[in-house]
Amino acid sequence: MALHELIRITNDFLDLTATLRTAIERMEESGSSHTVLIENATPIAILTLKEIINLYHNGIADTQKAIDYASYPIISIHDDRPLDMAVEMMIDYEIRRIVLINGSGHYVGTLTQSDVLRYYESQGRVDHEVMGCLNKRNTALKVPYDTTVKGAIEQMQSAYRDVMIVMRDDNPIGIVTEKDILMLAHQKVSLENHIADYMHSPIVTAELNEKIHTIIERMKFGNFHHLLVRNGEKNLYVLSEKDLLRNYNTALEVKLEAKLRDAKATYNLLGLAFCEIIDLGDDQIIKWLNAEAMLTFGVKIDDSMSKMLGDSVWEKLMQTLRRHGGVERERIDFDGKVYEATLLEAEVNGQNILKLFLNDVSELIRLGEELRKSLEHTIELEQEKSRLYLEVASVVMLALDTEGNITLINPKGCALLGVSKEEALGKNWFDHFVDKEQVAETKALFNAVLSGEESVVEYLENQVRTKSGEKRIIAWHNAILKNTEGKIIGTFSSGEDITKIRESEREIHWMAHYDKLTKLPNRLLLSARLEHSIERSRREHKKLGVLYIDIDHFKDINESFGYETGDLVIARIAMRLEGIIRQEDTIGRVGGDEFIVVLEALEDITECERILKEIMRVFGEKVETSQSDFQLTGSIGIAIYPDDGDDGETLLKNADIALRQAKETGHNNYCYFTQEMSVQLFERVLMERELRRAVDEKEFVVYYQPQVDLHTGAIIGAEALVRWKHPSLGIIRPDMFIPLAETNQLIIPIGEEVLLQSCRCIKRLIDEGLFEGRISINVSGKQFERPDVVETINRIIGESGLDVKYVELEITESVLMSNPKALGEKLIALKALGVEVAIDDFGTGYSSLSYLKTFPIDKLKIDQSFVRGIPNDEQDSAIVKAIIAMADALGLKTIAEGIEEEDQNLFLQQHGCQQGQGYLYARPLDEKGFETYLRDYKTLR
Ligand code: C2E
Ligand code: CA
Ligand code: CA
Repeated sequence: MALHELIRITNDFLDLTATLRTAIERMEESGSSHTVLIENATPIAILTLKEIINLYHNGIADTQKAIDYASYPIISIHDDRPLDMAVEMMIDYEIRRIVLINGSGHYVGTLTQSDVLRYYESQGRVDHEVMGCLNKRNTALKVPYDTTVKGAIEQMQSAYRDVMIVMRDDNPIGIVTEKDILMLAHQKVSLENHIADYMHSPIVTAELNEKIHTIIERMKFGNFHHLLVRNGEKNLYVLSEKDLLRNYNTALEVKLEAKLRDAKATYNLLGLAFCEIIDLGDDQIIKWLNAEAMLTFGVKIDDSMSKMLGDSVWEKLMQTLRRHGGVERERIDFDGKVYEATLLEAEVNGQNILKLFLNDVSELIRLGEELRKSLEHTIELEQEKSRLYLEVASVVMLALDTEGNITLINPKGCALLGVSKEEALGKNWFDHFVDKEQVAETKALFNAVLSGEESVVEYLENQVRTKSGEKRIIAWHNAILKNTEGKIIGTFSSGEDITKIRESEREIHWMAHYDKLTKLPNRLLLSARLEHSIERSRREHKKLGVLYIDIDHFKDINESFGYETGDLVIARIAMRLEGIIRQEDTIGRVGGDEFIVVLEALEDITECERILKEIMRVFGEKVETSQSDFQLTGSIGIAIYPDDGDDGETLLKNADIALRQAKETGHNNYCYFTQEMSVQLFERVLMERELRRAVDEKEFVVYYQPQVDLHTGAIIGAEALVRWKHPSLGIIRPDMFIPLAETNQLIIPIGEEVLLQSCRCIKRLIDEGLFEGRISINVSGKQFERPDVVETINRIIGESGLDVKYVELEITESVLMSNPKALGEKLIALKALGVEVAIDDFGTGYSSLSYLKTFPIDKLKIDQSFVRGIPNDEQDSAIVKAIIAMADALGLKTIAEGIEEEDQNLFLQQHGCQQGQGYLYARPLDEKGFETYLRDYKTLR
């Protein structure tokens, strides 16, 4: 059935030249609510009742051309389309009529809602109740009965209604439709008239539960198009044919329709073209399309799809659809553009509906293309940059694939390996270039990193093997290479040849730990090894010996033959020592002529003894050099772990102490450490430090012990005796510190200080007339060893202002005898200055009388150890008598020291000793005390 067969009114068209007037007349006479304007049988525009009313309301003259007020384009559909399609279009476009055309596009007629309604009614699809038709939009537009035509039209327009109910006292008294107003327009009724004069009355009403088909029958019968429904007291509804029609079309569920509407509204908003297509098998016709589709493809509803997309494109889509049940985002080229087409099939009311979405992706593609091009360009630039960088980089750059084959290597890398790029590329890194010993390890690490077991080892040092087999140490920085999908495709590393650095590090390390001359470990390394050895001995419960070896009198070789010879000797000794120690022992050079040997794993000390003997023997062998042959001896100090210490430092220190002990007890000796040594040394060290400080602080004062003429009792002199006035310990006697001062040369400044102080004191006392004797000053052997001793003494005496003739120097017998020749000369020089000389502690040494004669000596001082024994001890008495006799014979004066008792004094007097000193006369006195003593003495006299 063709759609035009449903049409009731057919003379509803006019030529394009028609005026508004003819249009109104045509509507009037045909009973139609529209007029279609056609040109050459083609429908162009449509003029509806609504438009006529509007023109009438606005007072537009009806002589005007209809086309100027008609609306176009019109919505048309081919006459042979299904009714459902037409109905749906009416609903979708909210139109009451749809223009039908034939295959040539000629006007066939206009299908209205009334026509459709009538058709449905005839089909007997009428079983709904009025109730179901009521909708909010059906609420009646009410106007008071005194409303003007103009006001009524305005209300209709603003409420978008085509019917109104005229009310009086809350009661509906009449109905006015658009058609009624058309009539008013035709009759040119004044707009100021009352609408109530033109209403239809009474109003046909329907009950809520009435069946729609009965209502339609009444409408047909009464030839009216609206009816009133009351719902309760106040609510009035007007139902039109359209509303009823909507309910006739049972196929379209209201809800579904609403949904559809929503979807379609969305499609309209979307930037993509959308159409619904009725699949008629041979042909696919656009049932609905959105604005985008309309504008882009220049098609309208009821056009065929092949018109929209062209046969080939559309066929292709349909083929895909038939084959796969759908088309999803398929690229199609159409009219110079690219679309992504999605075509879906759906069944609606037993009708096949296709939904086509066309998304214009041309711009996207163009942008993508542009992006790709610009990316390519940047990539090219980047690649060029990278390539340049690789070329000029001062580091090795290397990329490996997952197999470890070289995929990239820069010139620096080639240079390092000694290969060309061609040779290197594709070769397996591990098999060809990693140091054989490290291959397994490096490869395992590489695999672990690639498999993700191990995170990338960013810094790694290893040895590579160059083509020529040379080994180089390379420091690598590594990264993992991934492709765009994130899959690991290999590694990239930059490497620096640090062979030189490592070599010089090694050299520095060597220099820091080895002695250049002997190539033996130095103190640093030896100490470290010692600690290790101690650890081992501790674990194995073994003993360990630390031998501190010193070449005796080595200084003399350096001084006499020069350092070169000295070095030669050291090197020879080192070699010999190295030759005799055992494999497990360590030898090191720790000072100029000092060596340390660590003897490990000693079962007991006797083992140590054997090696000691060996060392002594080695020293006994002559060292021959071009300059001279040397017969050397060595001294050794030994400390044993764990007996003498359980750490390296202590053992070394104690071996050193033992070495000093060995030297003190005579050279060419070895000595085991004992605890006492340590204590002595400790005290000595403390004392030495204190003494040094005392010298700086000038804590020394001089005490004076008067010397008397044993026959007259007159004061003939005084001995200067030094005291250390320690800030916290008080007065310290010289026996406590002089011996130490003599070993560390401190005696020199101390001696000079005593000389100056005492000379000044005596000068003052002489000047004051309190004293007229000599001041006797003790001079240490160490002082006499100094070549400038005579000048120094002379200078200091001069400094004090004291006349030299008041000065007497005491020198002990043992000092004089240790080097009589050298001392003799100095004594002569001193004598020449006018200084007197006394031999101290006489009788304790082994003075040869013939020697004594050759020295310029003035006095012998009888040692107090002999004085102590007189007069009772026969031997002492005999010695004292002999000394006095001998001195007489040589023309020397005698003085006795340490006279405490009167009988001692008497004995000395009797046997001709001229002078004496001792507690019997006076104790050593400080300067003040001495002065008092002198004053008292003077008064007594
Ligand atoms: P010395 O030269 O034999 O000095 C005599 C020592 O005998 C002094 O001891 C003195 O105090 C002590 N004496 C004096 N009369 C008696 C007595 O009646 N009975 C006893 N028991 N002792 C008496 P002092 O002062 O302790 O000096 C000890 C030694 O220190 C001195 O022995 C001397 O060798 C050395 N000495 C003292 N002063 C100096 C100095 O300025 N230079 C140097 N190189 N040595 C000094
Ligand atoms: Ca003395
Ligand atoms: Ca003495």
